[in-house]
Amino acid sequence: MSTYITLLDCDTVLGDLMGDVLRVINKELGEERFRYEDMQDFWISNVTADEGYDEEEINTIMNADGFIENLTVCPGAQAGVEALKGLGEVFVLTKPSRHSPTWVYERLIWLQKNFGIDANHVVHTGAKHLVYGNLFVDDLHENIHTWNRRWQNSHSVLWDAPWNQNDNAHYRTGSWNQLVNWAEKFKRLRRFC
Ligand SMILES: [Mg+2]
Repeated sequence: MSTYITLLDCDTVLGDLMGDVLRVINKELGEERFRYEDMQDFWISNVTADEGYDEEEINTIMNADGFIENLTVCPGAQAGVEALKGLGEVFVLTKPSRHSPTWVYERLIWLQKNFGIDANHVVHTGAKHLVYGNLFVDDLHENIHTWNRRWQNSHSVLWDAPWNQNDNAHYRTGSWNQLVNWAEKFKRLRRFC
């Protein structure tokens, strides 16, 4: 039987990009102006622009040297990835920033350091629907639905986030235990494309 392939998004699933950006903004503003749980929009600047943090400012924060290399690891993610590795192969499917010359490099360093995921297990693309897997996990609902249409015999899980609460994805969780339980079940039930 072929290897079970899990495709994991990076930001919000493995690393707390949104939280880290908000921590920088709040520190600069000197108050807890923005809370992660209040972020109703995936695009941070749509929420923060009124405080002067437009797209350009957000990019400046994210593109600072070492920002991506020192991203906060999401709680439970390391143990969860290890469990998923136990089911087969884990690949990270992540869209690179076109604004930063160091984004891809720092992401590779971070994934190796925190998850033992090497460059051969990272796909840097915004066209996630082109990549085959048995299971795909992402917090951006558009990605989930586009991928589902392409790989109809596979499974996807929408990673729970404040900005995707209105989406009707069939599988949704923010729990690594739940995700691993589903992955185990999906692997037992899998069909071949
Ligand atoms: Mg993400």
